[in-house]
Amino acid sequence: MTAILSAARSTMSKQSSRSPHRQAVRWQQLNQQITNCEACPRLREYCQQVAAVKRRAYLDWTYWGKPVPNFGDSNAALLIVGLAPAAHGGNRTGRMFTGDRSGDWLYRALYRAGLANQPQAVSAGDGLELTRCAITAVCHCAPPDNKPAREELAACHLWLEQTLDLLPARVFVALGSIAFSRMIDEARRRGWFTDKKRPRFSHGASVRLADGRLLIGSYHPSQQNTFTGRLTEAMLDAVFGQATRAMDGVDESPPI
Ligand code: SF4
Repeated sequence: MTAILSAARSTMSKQSSRSPHRQAVRWQQLNQQITNCEACPRLREYCQQVAAVKRRAYLDWTYWGKPVPNFGDSNAALLIVGLAPAAHGGNRTGRMFTGDRSGDWLYRALYRAGLANQPQAVSAGDGLELTRCAITAVCHCAPPDNKPAREELAACHLWLEQTLDLLPARVFVALGSIAFSRMIDEARRRGWFTDKKRPRFSHGASVRLADGRLLIGSYHPSQQNTFTGRLTEAMLDAVFGQATRAMDGVDESPPI
C-alpha cells in the first residue's frame, strides 16, 4: 500500500459531524486524493498513454488522463457504483460516465428520475448537477479492455471504503456484477450484511442491508447491454424508481 493510500485511510476514516460546508470540503479532499492516486502502475500508464495518443474524434481535447474522482452530491442519499471510467469517456473528460454512450444512458435515466438537472453529460463544464445522488466506481482508472485486474480492484477498494465512510447514502445501485460483488464484500466487512448465502447478481436484485440500507443490482448501461436490448430504458427507470422510493422511505421490494 502506498503512502498516499495509508494517509487517506488515516485522515478520512473517522467521520464526525456533517455540516454542509465541512462535508463539501471532505468530499473535495477525498476526490483530490483519488485524483492523485498512483497505486496501480499498469492503469496509470495506460490512462496516460490513451491521453497522449487520443482518439481521432477527440484530437482537440486535452484528456484528463488521471484517476476519475467521485461525482455528485456530497450529501447523497443514493450512491451509484460503476465499474471503471471509459478510456475515451471519463478518462478524457475527468468526470464519471461523461462523454460516452454508457453515460448518455445513465444521465438520461437520472434526469427522468429527478436526480439530475439535465440529461446530457458531455464535459466537466456542461452544467450537470446531481441532487441527492453521487456516482463512484470500483476502479477509478480506465483499464485496458474495461477489465481491471483483481489486485487493481483490491487497491481501489480503499476509495470505495472512504466514499462509503463519507457519504450518508443508505441506498446503493451497483451497475454490473463486479460492482455488485464489491458492494456485497464491503457490506459484509461493515456488518451490514450477515447472511451466509451470497446474493446473486441480477437486474433489479435488491438486498436489504443493516439499518434500512438497500443495495440494488442493475445491468451496466454499457453498449454491450444497451445495443443488444439486454438493458432497456424502462428497465433502468425501474431501478431508479425503486431507488428513489427507498430514499423516500418507501421500499416495497421483497428482499433477497
Ligand atoms: S485504479 Fe484506483 S487504486 Fe489504482 S491507481 Fe487508479 S485510483 Fe489508484
